[in-house]
Amino acid sequence: MRQVMVAGNWKMNGTSESVRELMTGIKQGMATVNTAEVVVCPPAIYIPRVCGSVDGTTIKVGSQNICDQDKGAFTGEISGEMLKDVGCEYAIIGHSERRSLYGETDALVARRFAAARRNGIKPILCIGETLQERDAGETNNVCARQIDAVINLEGVEALADGVIAYEPIWAIGTGKTATPEQAQKIHAFIRGKIAALNTTVAEGLRILYGGSMNPANAAELMTQMDIDGGLIGGASLQADDFLRICQIAG
Ligand code: PEP
Repeated sequence: MRQVMVAGNWKMNGTSESVRELMTGIKQGMATVNTAEVVVCPPAIYIPRVCGSVDGTTIKVGSQNICDQDKGAFTGEISGEMLKDVGCEYAIIGHSERRSLYGETDALVARRFAAARRNGIKPILCIGETLQERDAGETNNVCARQIDAVINLEGVEALADGVIAYEPIWAIGTGKTATPEQAQKIHAFIRGKIAALNTTVAEGLRILYGGSMNPANAAELMTQMDIDGGLIGGASLQADDFLRICQIAG
């Protein structure tokens, strides 16, 4: 049985004060969340503060990226060891904004996935197609290529240590959501592709949906058989909305 998961990607938003308020709100509502694993991914500079604030709760903390290298002359990067040191359990890897705005390739994303694993951090591997790729009928190929980069470097068993987030790029921050049927179809394709290599890994792997998920559409998405939760951007910045999604997931 896969534990449903809801992860909030705060992206580059927040101040000391708003982070404090958001965490206070989330913590106050956690008693209403049943079975979902709840993860928040603040901007790196706020990670230690958020890690301190979740002490004594079941909330987990993730980073929004992780360096593919472990130490040394990599200005601006944050290593897996550092993330672990301050209490991170998860790291978002290969978010479409990193891929499209900062040129992260499949190969680099796979190395970041490897770095997370060797430092005991669970990677949340983001994959997904652009609108152009969808219109060209390339969705499955794009998702397969992005997953294969990790499998080729680390082996299919490596996926057992992480989570996949399918995020159609045209749905991120746009208010457009994939229909539950569209999303389920891709999630089933992803699971089937992995099952062809290792059924145990495929059955245990959590595949989240991301892309304009909110309290109004979360239920119909998360009741799909192969959707095991959500990666939430915009709606994770409001404690009430985020908690509502966590309640629905649970
Ligand atoms: C995201 O950035 O991962 C995301 C899903 O954003 P939003 O929910 O705002 O579409």
